Amino acid sequence: MSEDGSCGCKVGRVTAAYEHPNVDEWLFEEWQEGTSIRSLTEELNEELIERKLAAVGASRLEWSKTPVYEALHTDELSEPETIEIRRELERAGVDVEQLSADLVSHQTVYRHLKNCLGAAGPEEKTAEERREKARNRIYALQQRASVVTDSTVESLQKAGVTDIGDPEVLVDINVVCRDCGQSMDLDQLLTSGCDCTEG
Ligand SMILES: [Zn+2]
Ligand SMILES: [Zn+2]
Repeated sequence: MSEDGSCGCKVGRVTAAYEHPNVDEWLFEEWQEGTSIRSLTEELNEELIERKLAAVGASRLEWSKTPVYEALHTDELSEPETIEIRRELERAGVDVEQLSADLVSHQTVYRHLKNCLGAAGPEEKTAEERREKARNRIYALQQRASVVTDSTVESLQKAGVTDIGDPEVLVDINVVCRDCGQSMDLDQLLTSGCDCTEG
């Protein structure tokens, strides 16, 4: 343990300095749930950037469309774009050098999880657990599509744009095998698959 009560690695130091509490719990749980180190790292860095912007009184809304993270931590943007964003940040009162030095790499996040938190990584899931999870996820999506469509139809009805007696929305999800042309619903997909993989 270091003075600030953190584990002493970069993740610990930076999150303590940026007063980002509960970050360890969040990282630990998300990783266990199967979120990739890469997206955890990106989310953590975005959070650090937001905290830095808030600390200099920059409005979150104003900066929400600026790819600050991309400019400071990736090479996704062109050099002029990167320079422009760094300038804007400086004008807003951000210590850009400090901020970009504080952003963490995914190796650092990985080491923090493994070594400092003793996290074991995502649990190996059995095929049945994966099926169950896939079902839940897609059913939730279907449910949502149906609710949104339903309310859309309802408002069209009210506005007199459509004319239907008693609408009921059905959302079907089908997956087609491009090789054999067979169309499957989710259950078929998860249990039997298509014909062309047999034998
Ligand atoms: Zn650590
Ligand atoms: Zn097939």
